[in-house]
Amino acid sequence: SKDMGRNSYRVHDERISEKALNKVLLETKLRVALLKDEFHVYYQPKVNIRSGKIVGMEALVRWIDSEGRIISPAEFIPIAEETGLIQKIGDIVLKRACMQTKAMADEGYDLCVSVNLSARQFEDMNLIEKIEEALNQANLESKYLELEITDNTIMNTLDTSIEIIKKIRKRGIKVSLDDFGTGYSSLNYLVQMPIDILKIDKVFIDKKFDAKKQRIILESVISLAKKMDLKVIAEGVERLQQLDFLKSQGCDEFQGYYFSRPLPIEEFKRLLNYNRNI
Ligand code: C2E
Ligand code: CA
Ligand code: CA
Ligand code: CA
Repeated sequence: SKDMGRNSYRVHDERISEKALNKVLLETKLRVALLKDEFHVYYQPKVNIRSGKIVGMEALVRWIDSEGRIISPAEFIPIAEETGLIQKIGDIVLKRACMQTKAMADEGYDLCVSVNLSARQFEDMNLIEKIEEALNQANLESKYLELEITDNTIMNTLDTSIEIIKKIRKRGIKVSLDDFGTGYSSLNYLVQMPIDILKIDKVFIDKKFDAKKQRIILESVISLAKKMDLKVIAEGVERLQQLDFLKSQGCDEFQGYYFSRPLPIEEFKRLLNYNRNI
């Protein structure tokens, strides 16, 4: 039994070191990817639920490696957050999103861009300066920028977070609470956070659990948001029935595969142009 104990320790150790090794490998790859400029921004349209017009877009990062493989953020954001590399990646996304939104504004498209903020970025003492720098460099008006935060972003530092959000909004940038309804203490955040937009998480749109309960939750969340004078947007809309229901409840905007997947900028512009002409 002594031996078995030692063996199981060894197995345990190997697992840890394999995990640690993978982490180091991925971190190195991410550093190289940064040097090689392999991070790109895709855009998913935000659509006004009544007019069907594109009114904005969410910037979503993609890592496209030297072989053209697209690596999803779910695979590298956690490590990027752990290692702090998310700050560099986040800067790139913010700057590029501002530039590309300005270019679209110059072409006559009045679109807001929303950028996801991770906890690390939110803790960065220079966050406000970085945001201003991105806006200035792009010569983009702040009213075109929205920042999406989640309970992950704000978990540890509620009071500080509230102060940062206030500073951001004072500069005319809108803040949206992403993934609403999942994670930790959403209602508490809703009460305390001075936000502009509530984004209902896609788990409540998905038909995974009881359809009747789901409808009740959606109705309630939308009506709650409206009573609090928040704009409400639903993500993960894949089917017409979902869209119809959200519309009937007074949801303002939606995102989802039903309308479009996140697209590279050129394809996004083609979609915009088509959307403008219908
Ligand atoms: P999120 O902010 O909640 O973004 C929504 C995710 O849902 C995106 O996944 C999007 O592609 C996906 N999605 C959109 N419509 C549908 C739909 O109809 N059905 C389904 N099943 N999925 C849909 P993506 O692009 O893989 O991003 C995953 C997560 O990675 C994001 O979740 C966000 O938390 C994070 N992320 C992405 N880009 C950035 C970034 O630039 N910075 C930071 N900090 N995080 C990012
Ligand atoms: Ca988001
Ligand atoms: Ca979300
Ligand atoms: Ca999410």
